[in-house]
Amino acid sequence: MPRTDAPVGAQEWVPPHPQSIDELKAAAAGCEGCELYADATQTVFGRGAPDARIVFVGEQPGDQEDQHGLPFVGPAGRLLREAVDAAGLDPADIYITNSVKHFRFELRGKRRIHQTPGPAHIVACRPWLVAEFSLLKPELVVALGATAAKALFGPSFRVTRSRGELMAWPASAQHPEDFPVAEIRALATIHPSAVLRADDRDAAYNGLVEDLRVAAAAV
Ligand code: SF4
Repeated sequence: MPRTDAPVGAQEWVPPHPQSIDELKAAAAGCEGCELYADATQTVFGRGAPDARIVFVGEQPGDQEDQHGLPFVGPAGRLLREAVDAAGLDPADIYITNSVKHFRFELRGKRRIHQTPGPAHIVACRPWLVAEFSLLKPELVVALGATAAKALFGPSFRVTRSRGELMAWPASAQHPEDFPVAEIRALATIHPSAVLRADDRDAAYNGLVEDLRVAAAAV
């Protein structure tokens, strides 16, 4: 039965001494750390090279990601891949994941409408992100959109104000003690789905590419 009380969090599902991302991914498949697992199809864990130098962090899987079990395979993912290429980043250097690893949605008829994950979901799912970072030890963390940026840098962080600026990480993390990684850097930009929703799509896309160029120059 799905839980209806406050989320217990993912920690009890995280292996104590994980040796690989694949081990984490297998364990996350059974996570019931919050109620989102109950209605979603499956856990959508991060993917990318285990020696990736850059970790992109998005919000949560969307409808297509939920069905395929892979992050960023829908329209926003396609756009992000284009932007990565345009910015001169090597896709082999990138591992991509989400702050929340199950799709949160509302049913309207037969359609599943995206719902932004709440602070409790982000907190509940955080142990997976911490575990991914601990294994990957990236040189640069890129937060995609407001949810990821708040999850990483704290609730007062504003992407609109600070996008495209390199910051010290983990010093800029909301709970730096959670992230046992050497000194690296971080940067926030908009989520690629914001480009798809923008009135001026070209300007929004160019802004995303510009921010990613900062990332490309930093590694
Ligand atoms: S969203 Fe995260 S914490 Fe919640 S059940 Fe899924 S993997 Fe576990």
